[in-house]
Amino acid sequence: MTVGFVGIGHGRKDDGTFDPGAGDADVTEHQLNTLVAHVVTAALRRSGLIVASEVDLPYRSDPNYRGSVREIARRHCTWGAEIHHDWRGGDPGIAVLYGGPKERALGYGIVELARAFNGAAKLVHAPQHTFIAAPSVPTIIVEAGRVDDAAPWAELIFRGEIIAAGLVVGLQQIQLTRATYQAA
Ligand SMILES: [Zn+2]
Repeated sequence: MTVGFVGIGHGRKDDGTFDPGAGDADVTEHQLNTLVAHVVTAALRRSGLIVASEVDLPYRSDPNYRGSVREIARRHCTWGAEIHHDWRGGDPGIAVLYGGPKERALGYGIVELARAFNGAAKLVHAPQHTFIAAPSVPTIIVEAGRVDDAAPWAELIFRGEIIAAGLVVGLQQIQLTRATYQAA
């Protein structure tokens, strides 16, 4: 069985300590990432996709990007997306970080859909990031927004739905959806 992978950005580091991500406000990046990852995971599963998701783990026990890379390999996932938020100086809209052309195709649906709903969204070429460079399958990082002045929860939930629907479009572009169904 082949599966996709949804990761919560940051979390437990290899040395066992906890990385809350960006931001020094009451709400950490990890908390925002967890909220959006729940929405994305639920929406993808409603669409019939099989995804391994870090939201299935106890809160704050999910691994950071290094553990996510290992999990993608261990479970033979065919694609992966890890949910993040940008730091306070970053972009308030959605940003999709990608490496190669397949990853760009995987993320482009998210950008197109967000723009169709009048939201700001952009692709960022970031091939050097470990989560993007290390796996042998297409992987992207999705910055759902910005910490500290994060969008209201209703908006974040909407962005989660956009990210999931965009992933479905992107997976069709690179024909990983069909492979997932066949293997299932
Ligand atoms: Zn992050």
